[in-house]
Amino acid sequence: MARIKQAAVIGAGVMGAAIAGHLANAGIRTLLLDIVPNKLTEKEEAKGLTLEDKSVRNRLARTGLERLLKEKPAPLFHKKIAERIEVGNLEDDLARLGEADWVIEAVVENLKIKQDLFSRIEKVWKPGMIVSSNTSGISIRDMVKECSPEFRKHFLGTHFFNPPRYMKLLEIIPTPDTDAAIVEEMKAFAEEGLGKGVVFAKDTPNFIANRIGVYGLAITFQKMLEDGLGPDEVDTVTGRAMGRPKSATFRTLDLVGLDTFIHVSNNVRENVDDPDEKKAFEVPALLQKMVEKGWLGAKSGQGFFKKV
Ligand code: NAD
Repeated sequence: MARIKQAAVIGAGVMGAAIAGHLANAGIRTLLLDIVPNKLTEKEEAKGLTLEDKSVRNRLARTGLERLLKEKPAPLFHKKIAERIEVGNLEDDLARLGEADWVIEAVVENLKIKQDLFSRIEKVWKPGMIVSSNTSGISIRDMVKECSPEFRKHFLGTHFFNPPRYMKLLEIIPTPDTDAAIVEEMKAFAEEGLGKGVVFAKDTPNFIANRIGVYGLAITFQKMLEDGLGPDEVDTVTGRAMGRPKSATFRTLDLVGLDTFIHVSNNVRENVDDPDEKKAFEVPALLQKMVEKGWLGAKSGQGFFKKV
């Protein structure tokens, strides 16, 4: 796909950094942006840095990029590929989004935050630029309902799975406003450029794969609590014993991020009518407590397991 040569990813967390990595694998130069931190780390303080210093302002995106060099399985085909990724922050570098052929949003799973971000992106948007969201299941249409019809024509959901280099599936979620040519272009690029298997999903809560997958995780979690089983026992049974990877149930939750899992569950619960489905997506108090303690999973170094 000749047209997508330059991309930008906003949000350098678990998914954003890894998506930037996979775009770089495909030869695409990628700008990776995150927010400006509002607090110095101890190390930054000791170095005498201030919140105005560029290295502090770019810290979140840089940390995302650094993770790509350390994570296993490796997100990059080769470490040198990291040179195709440039880091920055949303305050200083927003206008640079105009250089991108495709902008992917991968920030925290929250409708209001995403809506505000798309309003900001629209201000620097250039005709032809494709903009997409990596949301796990928030309404694609709602995210851009305040944006112009021309922007909405170029907007769609592109839902990658974790880890993006290895998971073949990409859900594409067009809205009724998305231009058919943009949908076709995205499908061709995802298949030919990124090596993905594309499935089109409707703009319904959690689309297809997460509606099933998160349901399965939520039910397993509830059953485990009822039956007094430990995460390791559950993963042993649901993982290799079933011919699936080791990271089956609770290791998957750790990889996804417990905070993200809560956002995703809440989104379905708030947007479905069926009382049984609502009940299935209730977030167990234990999960809530773990997140309050800062146990977010692999990204914070502690979730159900210390090491995934
Ligand atoms: P994450 O918590 O690892 O990272 C979120 C990033 O967003 C952080 O780096 C944070 O600094 C940034 N951020 C927070 N507020 C922001 C704001 N106001 N503006 C810009 N950036 C902001 O989350 P993640 O797991 O990478 O998830 C990102 C998106 O991808 C979510 O929509 C999530 O539902 C979706 N997703 C996650 C997974 C997964 O397995 N974790 C899989 C598929 C899709």
